[in-house]
Amino acid sequence: MSSSLLDLYGLTRAELGALVSGWEISPVHAARLWRYLYLDGATSWADLPELPARLRAKLETETTFGHLAITRETHSSDGFTRKYLLGLHDAHRIETVLMRFKGRTTACISSQVGCAMGCVFCATGQMGYTRHLTAGEIVSQAVHVDRVLRSTAVDAPALAEGDHVSPHHRHERLRNIVLMGMGEPLHNYDAVMKAVDILCDGTGMALGAKKITLSTVGVVPGIIRMTDEKRTMCLAVSLHGATQAERAALVPAARAWPLEALMEACRYYTEKMDRRIFFEWTLIEGKNDGPDQAHAVGALLKGMQAQVNLIPLNPTNGYTGAPSHTGAAKAFQEVLAGYGLPSTVRQRRGIDIGAGCGQLAVAEQA
Ligand code: SF4
Repeated sequence: MSSSLLDLYGLTRAELGALVSGWEISPVHAARLWRYLYLDGATSWADLPELPARLRAKLETETTFGHLAITRETHSSDGFTRKYLLGLHDAHRIETVLMRFKGRTTACISSQVGCAMGCVFCATGQMGYTRHLTAGEIVSQAVHVDRVLRSTAVDAPALAEGDHVSPHHRHERLRNIVLMGMGEPLHNYDAVMKAVDILCDGTGMALGAKKITLSTVGVVPGIIRMTDEKRTMCLAVSLHGATQAERAALVPAARAWPLEALMEACRYYTEKMDRRIFFEWTLIEGKNDGPDQAHAVGALLKGMQAQVNLIPLNPTNGYTGAPSHTGAAKAFQEVLAGYGLPSTVRQRRGIDIGAGCGQLAVAEQA
């Protein structure tokens, strides 16, 4: 696939209509093409049977629909998680994860090749930054996962005890997206938001904006812009440290956007949007999992619409820290509860295939 071709997955429905109209072809065919792309799961030009020959010819010579080649696919031993290494047109590769648990289907998708933010415990950060993904490359990951779901029957581990497998369940659709894969989504704001708009189009994938969670390391201008644009997806902010010094030691981006400015942006978001923020806290044994840190988090977030997601550290080659024990996580939660802050401890899934939080990286030998 050449990058000089226009990626149809990078076009909004209005842009696709304008493209087809510009060729002096009826908009009826643009609507049909949109359906092929998002509802029928087309994978090749042969899957677009009812288009006029002139439109077919134009599409085949000037556009592509951005297939991401599966370079490698791995399944976690617990059956809940699948990780895809997907090839881009310029030979770079990204990782996309499908999680299925108790009937909930979620895709964890990437927004960049690598990442410039350099969080010390994150495999993607350890890779460094290569380039932004286009809106089409972001949409294509969701389309890929949706196709996988539609082509596979539900297997037992994805079901809760007592779940009834109806014919409908056999053809699941993608319903949730977390922008928590490789990259910092707010560093690639325009492409990410365009992709979200395409995925939420009610006549296509029709994902609910509130079923999409964007996770940021704390890019302050992006949080403010999301608020001003009234972006209604869920917002998760990686905190990891409750003082500027402790946070900057784990998250170098905190030097560009200090804690005080970040908290001001977060308050702006929660007050103007009247929505809560999910604060992510990677629990690292002996480093940021003690009662002092828990009280500092409590004091920092007290009174805000906030929930804290505690994530025991997932192993990566470039960082030697260890995950906190269950007892430390529970004690941390109890302290937070004393400040009126709800919290969860993230279930460890997909760790054996490097698909957990902070583990996504493209191995050199892949
Ligand atoms: S945690 Fe997120 S922002 Fe930080 S380096 Fe990894 S991918 Fe980038």
